[in-house]
Amino acid sequence: MAQEPNAPATPPRRRKKPKFGDTRHLFAALREHLAAGTASLPDFAKLVAEGLVADASVIYVTRHGELLELAATHGLNVSAVGRTRLRVGEGIIGLAAASGDVLNLPDAQNHPRFVFRAETGEQDMASMLAVPVKRAGRTLGVIAVMSRQVRIYAPVEVESLATVAMLLAEILARAGATDVGDEGFSETLPRRYGGHVISAGIVRGKVLAYGAAAPIAKLLTEDTEAELMRLDTAVEEANKTLDGLITANMPGGNASRDVLEAYRMVAQSSGWLAQVRTAIADGLTAETAVDKIARQLRERMRRVADPYLRERLADIEDMVGRLMVALGGMAPKPERADGMILIVRRLGPADLLDWHTRGVAGFAIEEASASGHAAILARALSIPALQVERGAVEAAVDGELVLLDAEEGTLVLRPEPEVLQVYERALAARDERAVALTGYRDVAAITKDGTELKLMMNIGLALELDQLDRTGADGIGLYRTEIAALASGGIPDVAGQAAEYGRVLDRAKGRPVAFRTLDLGADKLLPGETAQTEENPAMGWRSLRIGLDRPAILRRQLRALLLGAQGRPLQVMFPMVATVEEFRAARDLLEAEAGRIRPAPERLEAGTMLEVPSLLFQLPGLLAEADFISVGTNDLMQFLFAADRGTPELADRYDTLSAPVLEMLEKLVTYCQEAGVPLSVCGEAAGRPLDALAFAALGITTLSMSGNSILPVKAVLVEADLNALRPVLRELRRAGAAGGSIREPLAVWAREHNLAV
Ligand code: PEP
Ligand code: MG
Repeated sequence: MAQEPNAPATPPRRRKKPKFGDTRHLFAALREHLAAGTASLPDFAKLVAEGLVADASVIYVTRHGELLELAATHGLNVSAVGRTRLRVGEGIIGLAAASGDVLNLPDAQNHPRFVFRAETGEQDMASMLAVPVKRAGRTLGVIAVMSRQVRIYAPVEVESLATVAMLLAEILARAGATDVGDEGFSETLPRRYGGHVISAGIVRGKVLAYGAAAPIAKLLTEDTEAELMRLDTAVEEANKTLDGLITANMPGGNASRDVLEAYRMVAQSSGWLAQVRTAIADGLTAETAVDKIARQLRERMRRVADPYLRERLADIEDMVGRLMVALGGMAPKPERADGMILIVRRLGPADLLDWHTRGVAGFAIEEASASGHAAILARALSIPALQVERGAVEAAVDGELVLLDAEEGTLVLRPEPEVLQVYERALAARDERAVALTGYRDVAAITKDGTELKLMMNIGLALELDQLDRTGADGIGLYRTEIAALASGGIPDVAGQAAEYGRVLDRAKGRPVAFRTLDLGADKLLPGETAQTEENPAMGWRSLRIGLDRPAILRRQLRALLLGAQGRPLQVMFPMVATVEEFRAARDLLEAEAGRIRPAPERLEAGTMLEVPSLLFQLPGLLAEADFISVGTNDLMQFLFAADRGTPELADRYDTLSAPVLEMLEKLVTYCQEAGVPLSVCGEAAGRPLDALAFAALGITTLSMSGNSILPVKAVLVEADLNALRPVLRELRRAGAAGGSIREPLAVWAREHNLAV
């Protein structure tokens, strides 16, 4: 291609006219400007138009998060700068900002979203390539190039403009507001986001937007060799398990093209790093190059519908995060984050615990669901948490005030003072209600019609044991033994486990405790473990299945339970049992261990969780062998309705208070009563007052729930007349027999009867 001399305007040196989409030339020119300290937005616009051989370029910047203002142009009317404004979502530029997508349009003016702004002089332009300028999840603006000729921009040009957009984002972040006028980019208006409550409570505090990296100090380099060496050292230092992590996530099956594309980028560790290296060779520093490739990965993953693969994004982010920390481009987690509210896209249970120990007071998570393990932990720790609608992470600014209302289900960024006052009053009212509820602690859980109930606690951490006395719980209906292992980062030896179980029994002071054996796998991975290469890990090799196939760990745990009991009565419960044979095999292991340990427990009971629907069709056999059954509605619901408990979009789709579930529970009650086997419910549904009321009416008299649900549930049940409720429930079930929820009409009935559901 011919290279002609090109008259420079502000650049310090004469440059050759660049080749079509030649990133290196463009970066070299940008580097000269940055090094000379002369980089301004008009220079940027000019270099980009020249570098991509376009007839015009525009840079729009976001104002108050809602408007896009023309901040610089080359090739259009400069007089429009500072005057032309578009709302986010308006026009092609606004569409790129709102969707976060790159728009490559050969005939932009005939696009349905095109809006014409005469003052810009853009009437001659036919094609447009628009790229959002994003940083740490926030859209700072849009950069676009235009041509008179109708054309599609080539992939190499799209790639170049995407890199320029990234550099521009860093420059804007570093320069603060100075380049684009005095208003700056920071949003100042309050913003509200809806959400689903995953752990009730209201809290206000400062935003903790961890993961929002500090501006990269040096963006471009001449010394690519040195940068490549920095990268190699960082890779070694930061993540020795990189290859394992990536190859461990290889899914099978008929993935869509997007899935495969995303997967290819994830799976080929050498490919991932090779791309980082290419970006360095193009003139980016190591951290800029890592950031660039990570953005591309996120962009691809954003389009992937498969929740399992989306979950893997957390692994990639983790890896990129560690690489950035090693390169000095991102700060490690703060030691303390007291009273702060973490706003994140995803969060695993181990990370939630980690943040809890650092003092975080509330969580807003975009991709979470009420029955996921992070949610269960949040409830166990009584930390308010919300599954918040998308956009909150992008709009949240570190250190700004935020109000997390995990009762109504809203997150308010930068709340108005009047709103804060209203919340202060609501908080005071809530405190009053909490005081009123404590009055129920010593009240026996007996309904108005005289049904005696047992309200038990679900516990996962020693620090929750305090709540046993504070709530007046009748015992521990579910002790999740894996949670302590997740919290401490590994499974202790037999003596360590025995000490823990012994302490739990001490604190229970004679009240029954159902210890559930380790339920690891799926979303409960110990630190350092990588996910199995399974398409559906929740239905995969997890929980008791691992315990039976690799019995050493299970045996050690059973021994520890027997040792911890020290002769006291012991209840052991097995999770994820799918067949009577599995239950029998697990019970046999327990009995074999029990035969060896002295003192033997005064009474040894082996029970099962009912989480897998196949057990419902083996009840006679199961009831002949199990000493008790506890329904785990979290897993049972997901398997019954084929609805992943971790998918927020499905959170409200299927209801425990619907005809099929109530029908199933009723039959189960009948079978258990006939066999004389105690039945309880220990899934999250048992802690919802309305669900608890319906379960009690069906004849389930033992309910196990997180500590902060006990008093609200008791307050409802002791005021309820189950005899009056039963015909109502029957009628509602009959009317809703098609499978729909009866929640609303049941709640109306309850409120009419002064029950605080
Ligand atoms: C359940 O599945 O309902 C249950 C109680 O177990 P977990 O939530 O720990 O899977
Ligand atoms: Mg379960």
